[in-house]
Amino acid sequence: MARLQSRQISQLHLYQVLHAVRLSADPLSQAQIGDVTGLSQAAVSSLMRRLLEGGALIEVGARPSLAGGRREREFAINPSHAWVVGVKVALHQITIALSDFAGGVHSTAKLPINAPLTAAALVRLLTREINKFLKTEADSVRQGLAGVGVAMPGFIDSMHGEVLWSPVLKLVAKSNGAAAEPLSASLTEALSVPVFIENDANMLALAEQWFGQAARTANVAVITLEHGLGLGLVINGELYRGHLGMAAELAHLQIEVDGRDCPCGKQGCLETYVSHQAVVRQGVQAGLIKGSDAVKFGEVLTALKALANLARSGNAKARKIFEDQGRLLGQWTGNMVNLLAPQLVLLDGDGTIAADLYEPALRKAMTQALTLPHRNRVQLVVRHQGDEVWARGAASLVLQRLDESAAVVQAVSRHGVDLNTDGLSIGRPSSA
Ligand SMILES: [Zn+2]
Repeated sequence: MARLQSRQISQLHLYQVLHAVRLSADPLSQAQIGDVTGLSQAAVSSLMRRLLEGGALIEVGARPSLAGGRREREFAINPSHAWVVGVKVALHQITIALSDFAGGVHSTAKLPINAPLTAAALVRLLTREINKFLKTEADSVRQGLAGVGVAMPGFIDSMHGEVLWSPVLKLVAKSNGAAAEPLSASLTEALSVPVFIENDANMLALAEQWFGQAARTANVAVITLEHGLGLGLVINGELYRGHLGMAAELAHLQIEVDGRDCPCGKQGCLETYVSHQAVVRQGVQAGLIKGSDAVKFGEVLTALKALANLARSGNAKARKIFEDQGRLLGQWTGNMVNLLAPQLVLLDGDGTIAADLYEPALRKAMTQALTLPHRNRVQLVVRHQGDEVWARGAASLVLQRLDESAAVVQAVSRHGVDLNTDGLSIGRPSSA
């Protein structure tokens, strides 16, 4: 069995210390870091020295020692150690956020887009807008820029930086999955800093785990209802990506054989029955709102609001469209909980503007779908935080990648990389 090199183990421990301090709501003492990571005080002491010398951590004060001896020094992430940019690419809008090394958002910008775009056009657009955004920042920010994270909907292989399919990009989804777009490499070259890409729902799950409602919650499912339906999973305290980052694509659960065409290339996916587009299409077909079957992305949200207002004014047909949406979403959510057993489910995204209309049906269907022991034990929270949070998630991704720079950490942690790809066989018995 191949063994980890001592340098790799040291990198892993460095990451554990940094991660422990990052996820803590308050500054930590060296003894606390030892408790959280399970590392010896001698090891923590040496790792802390390296992180303090490198500037990633700072000493922020001291507290009385519980043992009554010397005061214990307290440590926190050094916000100005590096800067990162997070970008959320949606079908109708791009949101850019500048974040410090501690994850604090300093400024944001938004601009409308008209997706889908070719990959080349998206690279040009993002390069121009990110450079324009950074021009207004201080020199120290531009010089300290450590990376850019880009969140987008679709099937994203975040480890290889490739888009396998996204509604934002003009890609031909081939049945053999050959149409991968190396967006990460193209943007890295254009911007001259490392660029990481990730599925947007995963980004939101990461932001929730690091800074939001899911902090210190080990198992969380984040559902995003926007132009499409998304799912991000934190399992056992880590963002779960699965092989090639393709996990949690449960929006494309087929609920009808030979069903409606889904933009992903399949038929009958749940998304095509509950997305904004689907709800609006039903409103158009029922003669409740004006438009065509294929409403433009930029106009979908306006049409959705019009349909929602009609439902609120008491129109029974309009109400039924949202109730049907809630029923499907609730049944799906309950089944997902049965499979993964999160203790918290967050529903976010601009689709929550009509939550008053579908939430009662959603909760009822979800309860019906849940196995009995789950009922009254899993919490569902519906709310909308806005695109800045997603952009913050994108910035968090860059911070995560900066923290865990060693290949070994990628192999042992959360990306679903085959353990043997680097000649490592961690925790796996040798077959030789
Ligand atoms: Zn689909």
